[in-house]
Amino acid sequence: MPFTLRGDDACQPTTPTPIPNPYWVAFSPAVAHLIKIEIGEDGLPKNGDWLEVLAGNQLEVGSVDFSTPISTAYSGHQFGVWAGQLGDGRAILLGDINDLEIQLKGAGKTLYSRMGDGRAVLRSSIREFLCSEAMHALGIPTSRALAVVGSKQAIRRETLETAAVCSRTAPSFIRIGHFEHFASTQNIARLKELADLLIARFYPECTIDPDPYLSLFKAISARNAKLVAQWQSVGFCHGVLNSDNISALGLTIDYGPFGFLDQFEIDHICNHSDQGGRYAYHRQPQVMHWNMACLASAMLPLLELDHSSEESQSLLRTAMEDFPLVYAKEWQHLFRSKLGLQLEREDDIQLIERLLQAMHDSKIDYTNFFRSLSRIKKDTLPSDILQRNDFIDRQNIDHWFTNYINRLQSEIISDDSRRDLMNRINPKYILRNHLAQSAIEKAQQDDFSEVTTLFKILSNPFDEQEGFEAYSHPPPLMMQKIAVSCSS
Ligand code: AMP
Ligand code: MG
Ligand code: MG
Repeated sequence: MPFTLRGDDACQPTTPTPIPNPYWVAFSPAVAHLIKIEIGEDGLPKNGDWLEVLAGNQLEVGSVDFSTPISTAYSGHQFGVWAGQLGDGRAILLGDINDLEIQLKGAGKTLYSRMGDGRAVLRSSIREFLCSEAMHALGIPTSRALAVVGSKQAIRRETLETAAVCSRTAPSFIRIGHFEHFASTQNIARLKELADLLIARFYPECTIDPDPYLSLFKAISARNAKLVAQWQSVGFCHGVLNSDNISALGLTIDYGPFGFLDQFEIDHICNHSDQGGRYAYHRQPQVMHWNMACLASAMLPLLELDHSSEESQSLLRTAMEDFPLVYAKEWQHLFRSKLGLQLEREDDIQLIERLLQAMHDSKIDYTNFFRSLSRIKKDTLPSDILQRNDFIDRQNIDHWFTNYINRLQSEIISDDSRRDLMNRINPKYILRNHLAQSAIEKAQQDDFSEVTTLFKILSNPFDEQEGFEAYSHPPPLMMQKIAVSCSS
């Protein structure tokens, strides 16, 4: 049984609206495997009816029955401001297979579409597909993408585009916004039901805690703290960290105007519509923490079932203090690993921070620099390190490399083993905006080959892939500042 809020107006039966003449744009056999879809030699479902199902045109395929699709209400804070009720405006939950929920994004209007058309364009669907699968391959918790199905149906955004439906899976798509919804409508019975469901299904360890709801809050908060540390480590900027886009399972969800860092700019803003930089790279940890405050405030009535109001507030306030600690621990672990450091030394943090500052000052390519670090050996001379030439302040970076090599010398592990470990944490390939853009432009001309190529490369981001070196290069000058807006 998928997580559903069946039974009141926060959960509405919703039939997808068909699209004409659907065709495959992208398909993930690995995700298909998770939900037991049989795949043919062409890498597509053996049962051709899946195309119609994933287009939203049909609700049955073989013995699979999706006859009770729904959409749910959630509320939330957008850009720091209470936005009231939002909800699945263009996502429809078909049902679940193997404990994974299957959603169609862009399958037409729902009761929660407000002013929107319930649709998604080809461009944003390809981005969501490629990034979900790339994040998974990077080892970062995320919703997965099953497929993108296209159609010639026209969709109006800034210009006329065409429609697509992205099918995605996750153990649950519950968001902080679902908690906020029941808290704001003072539906405490449903709020409790939601928390109980999450505990039973995903956080069973909370049941042994005398304060299960406090324990649930801490667990959700810890997962999201670790998640954002992982984003920072690969240079991923989500773009719209509104509370309705934050998963209760600590998954990366709702891919919109996201972006991976090319050059390292600590205050990089990937979302063209985010003028104030609320969701800039360096603000992601604190903004995630802020979202946890939204969750805490929504969960307050649950603690008040067992405690006085003052006591409940005090318990949650104290629990909020865990976030920066969990985040810092994970961040330090990840960045030590990126530098190939296994021992923990206090001054490592300074070493990491000095490097990031130097990278920021010289706008160094984030991914390629970390990837190249594994070539440095314990007996390398700083003056022989090629990467030094990319930095403006040579003296400063030489000093840093000297310290780094000294630090490597205190490690027991061999250069070769360290290189292998570093190459499992510092990816060679990420979904750079310019790569996504060229795949999208071809797809808009009905050529999906580049989507397939990128999907394949990004499925193995840590492996050197012969013939695909160019996919690891920084963007050409004119493609450096592609603006990605919220429009999708
Ligand atoms: P987002 O900023 O993408 O998380 O979206 C915020 C809210 O707007 C969510 O409730 C979405 O479901 C809704 N939404 C976004 N685009 C559309 C659309 N084209 N039609 C209907 N609802 C939409
Ligand atoms: Mg959203
Ligand atoms: Mg979105």
